[in-house]
Amino acid sequence: MVVEQIPKIVGFVYALVIVVMCAALLYTGRWSRRIGYALLTITLGFGFLILAPIMPYQLQMLVLRDMKGLGGPLIAAVLGIILILVLSFIFGRFYCGYLCPVGAAQEAVSRVSPRTVRVTQKTLTGAVRLGVLGAFFLAGCTVSFGLLYPFGIRDFFSLSFSAAFFSFIGVLLVSVMVYRPFCRFICPFGALAAFAAMPAVFKIHRTEACIDCGNCERVCPTDEAKRSDLKGECYLCGRCIDTCSTPGALRYRRP
Ligand code: SF4
Ligand code: SF4
Repeated sequence: MVVEQIPKIVGFVYALVIVVMCAALLYTGRWSRRIGYALLTITLGFGFLILAPIMPYQLQMLVLRDMKGLGGPLIAAVLGIILILVLSFIFGRFYCGYLCPVGAAQEAVSRVSPRTVRVTQKTLTGAVRLGVLGAFFLAGCTVSFGLLYPFGIRDFFSLSFSAAFFSFIGVLLVSVMVYRPFCRFICPFGALAAFAAMPAVFKIHRTEACIDCGNCERVCPTDEAKRSDLKGECYLCGRCIDTCSTPGALRYRRP
């Protein structure tokens, strides 16, 4: 049993360590786009090799009380999910940005595609996702139906070529046009992480050096680059920082 749990533990420890590492690198100004690409690649590898650390899938297993799918004790799964949410509260959504294989797959597609549909209305995406969150718990707790099953997370990362597998391919195809459609419209864990990240201790802030040129707002795929934005939908993608040419205008800091 312990041996079966090792992949989940490895994936979880990887997520914990890298979230803290990402935050430290961004805080000290040593973050780079190449580090982000490397992390996305490693995370995808973890997804395909050990099906971890996939928190939306874990949350689904938890709601269904599927002990085999959880791959470990119930209490460990609950604590693991809470710990990732606590890290989102402290450091922002680095887990979603770089450590979740589902998010990493969509992020990777978005990086190589010229997006043509800008869906930046976070009230719309958040409202849809909240509705999904409610339906997710209702379906799981009442009739034991896994609302995420049709999206094929497990089938995709275990390369089981089922209908659900191709459903996830569909998600990736939509990601060509729309930034992270599963994360922003569907993911129940993402809904919880967004709530946790809104009052986050550390966020990307515009400082007094900012000249209000608006470049960061134009490149932000989730409409989270304005001064007043809470950053619940900030995936710490770094597009705003990469595009800003004013030294010191954007900092990852406490408010
Ligand atoms: S929103 Fe969900 S699917 Fe997207 S990165 Fe976060 S946990 Fe993963
Ligand atoms: S562009 Fe900046 S504010 Fe927008 S999601 Fe990416 S890191 Fe967050």
